[in-house]
Amino acid sequence: MGPIHPETARRIACDAVRTVMTVAPPADGAGWTTIRPRVMPLSVGRAARIIPPHIRTALRLRDQGCRFPGCDRPPGWTDGHHIVHWPDGGRTELDNLVSLCRPHHRRVHEQGWRIHIADGIAVVEPPP
Ligand SMILES: [Zn+2]
Ligand SMILES: [Zn+2]
Repeated sequence: MGPIHPETARRIACDAVRTVMTVAPPADGAGWTTIRPRVMPLSVGRAARIIPPHIRTALRLRDQGCRFPGCDRPPGWTDGHHIVHWPDGGRTELDNLVSLCRPHHRRVHEQGWRIHIADGIAVVEPPP
């Protein structure tokens, strides 16, 4: 689909199945552009689930739905959001995850809302 904004990539990576594919330009170099690269797949890695089922179950039980202030969307409508993003070293553990519905997940990423866990409850606060 082409390039996407880094924050969009972080949001998608928060709660996704990730497959790493290694590619190379074709041997003759023909068609190798950054706009629409023609590539040769070299290897396709095993899909790695970012949030394992037992942690997802515990997360949904703890949060009972989207934790964004005023939102009442149920657990089945939520994604798991990494409070410290996993590319930044954030772990896929209950104390680094929060349930957010899709619109609020997008909003947290794109507007910089802050999240922390206080007394076992995820607290979502507006950007400074
Ligand atoms: Zn996220
Ligand atoms: Zn929500």
